[in-house]
Amino acid sequence: MTAWFASDLHLDPSTPEIAARFLRFLAGPVQGARSLFLLGDLFEAWIGDDDPEPAHRRVVAALAALSASGTLVYVMRGNRDFMLGERFCKDAGAILLEDPAILTIAGERIAVSHGDGLCVDDRAYQKLRALVRDPALRAGFARLPIEARRRLAAEAREGSREHLANAAGYITDVNAGAVASVFRGAGVGFLIHGHTHRPGVHRLPVDGSERTRVVLGAWHDAADVVRWDETGWQLIPCPA
Ligand code: MN
Repeated sequence: MTAWFASDLHLDPSTPEIAARFLRFLAGPVQGARSLFLLGDLFEAWIGDDDPEPAHRRVVAALAALSASGTLVYVMRGNRDFMLGERFCKDAGAILLEDPAILTIAGERIAVSHGDGLCVDDRAYQKLRALVRDPALRAGFARLPIEARRRLAAEAREGSREHLANAAGYITDVNAGAVASVFRGAGVGFLIHGHTHRPGVHRLPVDGSERTRVVLGAWHDAADVVRWDETGWQLIPCPA
């Protein structure tokens, strides 16, 4: 029983080397695993499940092949690919996870999240996050022609880059209180998330007991992933 966790691949047609590494990861280390958890921002932008972009279709096909081979493929939406929907899940053979989600891995109950919901010090971003989760707005966006959606997504990414360049480091990292309330709400000792692109392992006390927060890496960088089996877990550079 092996479970893999990865996030923040930010797959984009302009960075084929990252997609190639991901496809090698799926075809190599992940083969035969019980499950693969993709915790958000698998894609740099996802304008809708009907996007015919060939680079994205190759990824969907590879996930479908992995799923058909018996590995459970779970996908959580991130802040870049929040438009991932039912058709994507059907095409990729993937199961959509709510954020946060509670899982049992090798007998341990853990929580997983993309992580953007923990960055509550970033007020401007949280306003935007609430907006893009609005079902009416999402439905309106989905009805636009693909070219219009592509243009809007490019503008949003430009805005996000500017915002990140100008915001202080602590603003764009997780808030300690928000992290504590996930541990408390889920009643778990272990949380895995991505989003901040600051991979690492953090031990912290919440209500008198030590908890572990593991942050996955972004793939344009170290691509740190978690591998978990009966012998335990490790945060390691992607072995592909
Ligand atoms: Mn993110």
